Amino acid sequence: MNLNTMLCISNSFARVVIAAHKYNEKPTSEKNQNNINKCTQNLIAISEAIETYQKEHGDLPEWLSELYPKYLTEADILLCPADKNGGEPIFTHNADPKMPVSYGYQFHPEYREEKAQQRKVYGDVMPIARCRHHENQTFSCLNLSISGKVYTSSYNWEFTPEVMYGSHEAAITALEKALERYPDDPVNYDLYTGLFRLYNKVGQDKDLESLVDRFKSIMNPEDIEGYHQLFNMLNSMDRYEELLEIFKDAAQHHPDAEPILSILAYVHRKLGNIELSDVYERRADPKFDLWGKVVSDFSATDLDGKPISLQQYRGKVVLLDFWGVWCGFCIREMPNLKKVYDTYKDQGFDIIGVSLDDKEAELRDYIKDNDLQWRQIFSGESWSDDPLAQQFNVTGVPEQWLIDRDGKLITHKARDDELEGLVVEALKD
Ligand SMILES: [Zn+2]
Repeated sequence: MNLNTMLCISNSFARVVIAAHKYNEKPTSEKNQNNINKCTQNLIAISEAIETYQKEHGDLPEWLSELYPKYLTEADILLCPADKNGGEPIFTHNADPKMPVSYGYQFHPEYREEKAQQRKVYGDVMPIARCRHHENQTFSCLNLSISGKVYTSSYNWEFTPEVMYGSHEAAITALEKALERYPDDPVNYDLYTGLFRLYNKVGQDKDLESLVDRFKSIMNPEDIEGYHQLFNMLNSMDRYEELLEIFKDAAQHHPDAEPILSILAYVHRKLGNIELSDVYERRADPKFDLWGKVVSDFSATDLDGKPISLQQYRGKVVLLDFWGVWCGFCIREMPNLKKVYDTYKDQGFDIIGVSLDDKEAELRDYIKDNDLQWRQIFSGESWSDDPLAQQFNVTGVPEQWLIDRDGKLITHKARDDELEGLVVEALKD
């Protein structure tokens, strides 16, 4: 059975399994496919149980575990066959407090209010429970919608509403309706960019312009988020002169707002004003001022329980790599790190990984599976509470600090193609 085939599971609720997602074209192994099929059956059973629960209680359960044993007689149905840990959802802050559950439940008490708001916008097609255990190149999540559909999507289902609705046209209709109801609520600003993307996809060019104008007329200039949305739309139309005027104005209102300054740096670069671009880039990111200065030391414990500090690496060129297994960009960067490490480790180059993961087992699995040879620091705190992330003011990953033999910061942006050249240069000194 292939998920690309539209399947109709006939039962009293006429639930339908759809798989419209374009990323789901690569064949997966037979074992993986069997897991997906079993997981799909689980989700459908969960959907039926939720429906019965709702009829009796007039509301959704607080957690999926409340379905067991009255509405779901087998506890195994809450376990995905691909879940190696036997009942962990892989979604942060989403673990069921009462029993092992593989699925991320979207309406648990902490999220419920936010999800209820989203439900008003997206309707019953939005996910209620999600499985992330089949994550591979083809899709990230297997989702169960409130109305009982099972479909695959990327992690951020909000970005591709056409997957939930089944077609671009259906998604456009739904988002237009939502916009009629909530034309100027900042919580729903992304409806504009969502619709913009869909109009673009289907070639409804004439609607793009009016959507941008409409957004300009309702956006609150005090709300930075609105500028993000406006940027996304105008940038995709290459309207840099217009962006420059809007963001110069915005920078006067919000002189210290990093997102506004970053966008100005970007727009100036696009317009060929490289010097001005650099000025704004530095204003947006105070870490540029640390270049050439000695990096403050830390003392921590590595994954093997041994003490680790920057001082131990004095005399070496060292890359302090803030990363996480959950971070796609970090994982994509990893082959590059390994290549540079393998090439220069005997010439005085080393890496210290600072993992901002919250699941130690996942981190250890990744390190083992990918044979990462350098030391790792792991606090187990969420990344906003991690002591090193706080000390180095890391607010996004990957962030890669390259430090010279004297302990001075070369750059906090040592990535991609530039990494190797920077390391070679630093090793010369
Ligand atoms: Zn699953």
